[in-house]
Amino acid sequence: MCNERSLPTAFLAKMERLLGGEYEAFLNSYGEQRRYGLRRNPLKITEEDFLRVMPFPLQKISWAREGYYYDAVSQPGRHVLHEAGAYYIQEPSAMAVVEALAPKPGERILDLCAAPGGKTTQIAGKMQGEGLLVANEVIGDRAKILSQNVERMGIANCVVCSEKPERLSTLFSAFFDRVLVDAPCSGEGMFRKEEAARGEWSETAVLMCAERQMAILREAAKLVKPGGVLVYSTCTFSPEENEGTISAFLRENNAYDIEEISFADLLAPGRPDWLEHAAPGIGQTARLWPHRLAGEGHFVARLRRNGNAGVEETEVEESKAASEKRFDRKKNRKGNVGKEDSQLSGEAALFLEKELEIKEAWNKKHAGRMIRFGEQIYLTPCEMPALTGIRILRPGLQLLTEKKNRFEPAHALALSLLPDDIGKRQDVSLAEASAWLRGESLSSQGEKGWTALFYEGFCIGFGKASGGQMKNHYPKGLRKSL
Ligand code: SAM
Repeated sequence: MCNERSLPTAFLAKMERLLGGEYEAFLNSYGEQRRYGLRRNPLKITEEDFLRVMPFPLQKISWAREGYYYDAVSQPGRHVLHEAGAYYIQEPSAMAVVEALAPKPGERILDLCAAPGGKTTQIAGKMQGEGLLVANEVIGDRAKILSQNVERMGIANCVVCSEKPERLSTLFSAFFDRVLVDAPCSGEGMFRKEEAARGEWSETAVLMCAERQMAILREAAKLVKPGGVLVYSTCTFSPEENEGTISAFLRENNAYDIEEISFADLLAPGRPDWLEHAAPGIGQTARLWPHRLAGEGHFVARLRRNGNAGVEETEVEESKAASEKRFDRKKNRKGNVGKEDSQLSGEAALFLEKELEIKEAWNKKHAGRMIRFGEQIYLTPCEMPALTGIRILRPGLQLLTEKKNRFEPAHALALSLLPDDIGKRQDVSLAEASAWLRGESLSSQGEKGWTALFYEGFCIGFGKASGGQMKNHYPKGLRKSL
């Protein structure tokens, strides 16, 4: 909660001018308790089973297929199920953005401003492991957090990179079916949640954000294939960064049109009346207001790149040829990085089959090419064209680590597993799972060797069984007392 006195005066004056009769309700929302949200991970559990295993009271969020409100006292961030990737904690109104993007299995999708990964992980859930998801975050440290969240949620078909938008738009021109720009913004919708957002706000900052958003959108526009979808969102209220940015973008770029968001009746419309020169269709963008629904507030616009307009035929052709060339290349500058070799693939596949008893069901779900990054072996999505010339944090699903000519299964592989995917497995209780996350060993009931541990159907990692003991291989950096 925050009070009126802690909000920037110029912000309040502006909102009063814009909202008129609605201003009082808007202002009162800052005195109310905020609502907390989490999202079920549909890659790991069905809705029915989720509601059965979740130990906290949950209430459905009407605009997000997998979203629920929870009570602050529940602390779902401190539970084994969180570490196992059963859900992602996300602000409720932020969940509307990916619903508007409407990703489909098998598509190529780019999340251009992706850290810490709320929307990336939501997109992945809707893709159901099929197709290519590229999650990009320009700031390196934030990209690491993004990569960890992608791993925790057990996402196999996601490549995580850390590049400037202009670099990606040169390499992947007109490549993606859908691109999301969840833009850096002045964060007015974060004021109740974060004191820092209130402190950093100024009218100048709003205008600077609008300029930066325009620069990002310009690059994003090049990445969408003709007929594809571009979704733009912010967690701020200022018209300059929302209706204003979209109007300015459409003035510059006539290859895009605004599309109505299908569930827009749940939300409030964008406000063409707040601009001097609003682009046609601005009323079809959507706003989520904290005084109209239980969430902190967001803005979402859905645009479609029309036909081939604005894309020279050659651009599409060149891009296709360039992607295919990159796709074929097996080595990057360091020689062994991103290297695909059939001997390695054979040995690794044998390890997965014989030592872990990975089942055909898992192989079918996770098509890809096996590649080596140093001593790490990854399964990279078939659709991913180039790993060259881009800062990659995660080229796909990490399967194995090769150590002195032997393999160890990766934690990311564990997190991608469902109970029917693996023969070498052992079920554990909540107390055992908590001890495991602290780094303790458990007793083993099965055969010697690598074993995947499952709590309530969620894999929490690999252990190595020997002499009745299950040696703990939970990554040291992730160990915690819950
Ligand atoms: N989509 C994320 C999620 O749902 O978890 C939140 C993204 S946050 C609103 C915006 C992100 O854009 C930040 O992580 C920020 O580091 C990144 N960013 C900042 N400046 C950028 C720029 N010039 N180009 C691209 N991304 C930028």
